[in-house]
Amino acid sequence: MAQVIIGCAISYYLAQAGAQVTLVERDTLASKASRGTFAWINATWAKQPRHYHRLNQMGLDGWHELEQALDIPIRWGGSLEWFSSHERQVTLAADIEEQASWGEAAEMLSGIEVSALEPNLTVSADDAVAYSGGDGALDPVVACQRLAAGAQQYQARILEHCEVRSALSNDEGSVTLSTSLGDLVADRYVVATGADSLATQTLAGVTIPQRSTPGVIVMTKPLPRLIHRVIAAPGIHLHQRDDGKLVIGEQSGAPDNSAHTMRLRGRPTRFPTEATALAHAERMLAITRHYLPAAAGAEVDEVLIGWRPMPIDGHPVIGTPGASPASYLAIMHSGITLAPIVGQLVAQELLTRTPSPHLSNYRPDRQFSSVQGY
Ligand SMILES: Cc1cc2nc3c(=O)[nH]c(=O)nc-3n(C[C@H](O)[C@H](O)[C@H](O)COP(=O)(O)OP(=O)(O)OC[C@H]3O[C@@H](n4cnc5c(N)ncnc54)[C@H](O)[C@@H]3O)c2cc1C
Repeated sequence: MAQVIIGCAISYYLAQAGAQVTLVERDTLASKASRGTFAWINATWAKQPRHYHRLNQMGLDGWHELEQALDIPIRWGGSLEWFSSHERQVTLAADIEEQASWGEAAEMLSGIEVSALEPNLTVSADDAVAYSGGDGALDPVVACQRLAAGAQQYQARILEHCEVRSALSNDEGSVTLSTSLGDLVADRYVVATGADSLATQTLAGVTIPQRSTPGVIVMTKPLPRLIHRVIAAPGIHLHQRDDGKLVIGEQSGAPDNSAHTMRLRGRPTRFPTEATALAHAERMLAITRHYLPAAAGAEVDEVLIGWRPMPIDGHPVIGTPGASPASYLAIMHSGITLAPIVGQLVAQELLTRTPSPHLSNYRPDRQFSSVQGY
């Protein structure tokens, strides 16, 4: 049992290796975090410490392979990132120096150099901008669909609109998963339920401390090509997909007040009215137009609220918890970047029962520090 981009990737690699796989999704493929995501494939300075950076780097490498194997369109070209505060810029320059010393294709560019790469972008000549040349971005829905189709080619079964309600170990070592479409019997099951922290408790008897936060994603109607790279400008993230749609993500979350707490209870993925959705989109478009005046005529196509699966220390939770030996958890932020490598390593661990050293820092029974790792 496993779900969306993470579940699709694990299913693909498991099925490719010859395992009998059933992918179970309560809703439809790519309906939750793997839809309302910015979908930046990155191993930038923010991925700390080095072991986590390495895992993300392996994620990038994995996407290059999947791009070929499953014909997944990915827009490579790197990312450009800078901040408005002087202090933050100083740290950014130091972070980029560290990245370069780790072998990452990262460097600081001047505003003039950035203008040559992205002529439509407003940057001042004095701005220093971090360029991470290996980054890319994709359409997460297409990626999930291609991974799922790839898994199906290897005989994986996909059940949508199917909720897993409980998991019961049988005497003979198998597990019965009770679902809304009937019982499923399995040797092992993967809980890749994203930000739904109740699911790990119900299905694997383990509480993963999460601080899942919402983020608004706006997609415009198709525009002529305006930008070529991922842009992380002060207050806004942008990239333009191959279909011409501009994808806009905000950096700050919802204001921390009781009115918002009430509204966000139940974790909506859409705003309650179209007018509210458009007001939020307009707010983000105003910042976008500041950095990208050529987007002045952009029309809103879709406004989504995504909920980040975010273990409290910022790192993935991957592996079997002591409380439930037949289960295997795969819960993480940066799941778009990590999906290929997590898919490969989890499939290997499940099939060979040999722990991967690349996953040793992310086990579910670790002590979770509340220090934000990412
Ligand atoms: C606003 C935002 C921006 C982001 N930006 C980036 C980015 O730029 N780069 C990056 O790498 N990552 C980014 N992320 C993170 C990334 O999108 C997630 O880590 C990734 O999508 C998680 O995938 P998943 O498959 O684990 O979770 P999901 O896509 O949420 O899938 C989990 C699925 O489990 C299903 N489910 C839950 N319980 C059950 C049950 N009992 N039975 C059956 N099904 C169940 C749910 O319906 C859901 O579809 C972002 C996330 C958000 C929200």
